[in-house]
Amino acid sequence: MSTVAAYAAPAPKAPLERTTIERRAVSEFDVAIDIQYSGICHSDIHQVREGWSEVPFPLVPGHEIAGVVTEVGSGVTKYAVGDRVGVGCFVDSCRRCENCRKGLEQYCAEGHTATYASTDKYGETTYGGYATGIVVDENYVVRIPDALPLDVAAPLLCAGITTYSPLRHWKAGPGSKVAVLGMGGLGHVAVKIAHAMGAEVTVLSQSLRKRDDGLRLGADHYYATSDPDTFEELDGTFDIILSTVSAPLDFGAYLKLLKTDGALVNVGLPEEPISLNLFSVVMGRRTLAGSFIGGIAETQEMLDFCAEHGVGAEIETIRAEEINTAFERVLSSDVRYRFVIDAATI
Ligand SMILES: [Zn+2]
Ligand SMILES: [Zn+2]
Repeated sequence: MSTVAAYAAPAPKAPLERTTIERRAVSEFDVAIDIQYSGICHSDIHQVREGWSEVPFPLVPGHEIAGVVTEVGSGVTKYAVGDRVGVGCFVDSCRRCENCRKGLEQYCAEGHTATYASTDKYGETTYGGYATGIVVDENYVVRIPDALPLDVAAPLLCAGITTYSPLRHWKAGPGSKVAVLGMGGLGHVAVKIAHAMGAEVTVLSQSLRKRDDGLRLGADHYYATSDPDTFEELDGTFDIILSTVSAPLDFGAYLKLLKTDGALVNVGLPEEPISLNLFSVVMGRRTLAGSFIGGIAETQEMLDFCAEHGVGAEIETIRAEEINTAFERVLSSDVRYRFVIDAATI
């Protein structure tokens, strides 16, 4: 066991405070990681506030982890001390079910072990990346290529793979027209990745406030969804619409923006059920779909792709004592575009 410094929420909705936590001893297939940067994902805030479900407290959030290996178990073959590595949204899965065997561990039939607020195979509650160190099985660790600085790589471990996986699955590339709905933590990375894949990229955002950023990050077009003309002008335009929005949407209106066989893919999760007239799906053989993070092999593929194309998150690095202020700023959309905690300040 080792003791590391961390930031934890002691109770639901309580501010995070500095504390210490225990990490398990490094066993045969584990690597110990000195965390250098940890991204703040909107879902960290949902979890601390128990917006989705009950979670165990104290809660140490963080599933966008970038750091350096400091120790490896005797059976570890993939990593060595000094390697630059990342950990994303989960740290284990059953490894036997059909999905795990296909590299779709995020859809593990037995449920994966989330990086925090989950119970691992040792019966211990998992603690996430708002900490100075973590111990993870090597099979759930990915390599961060040298070309990617660790700070801008950290958010790719959730925001990057969450958008990369559906863009690959629905075949974004040269000749395809992709719309990214929402220009926030997920959306800005989606714009960069879709552009790097060679797609023609359109941002659909509530206003034109972030238009200059969108075009700079690789968008070809930028439209305000508050303007009704947008929906007339873009009728039947897109092969893929990737929705990163978690507010309730008029799905019928967005489905009409798809071409025949187009797909509206949700990675944002509104808390309320949706209502939909199925005419908007049936007419045009359209798909209304969803996608959840990505598997380990695909996460590695995403990092290699991002390194090759110079894609990193746009970040604002903060000191650990600013975490609670950063949470407030995320909730008021006052971040361009991802907060990253400098773990040296924890
Ligand atoms: Zn996340
Ligand atoms: Zn499984």
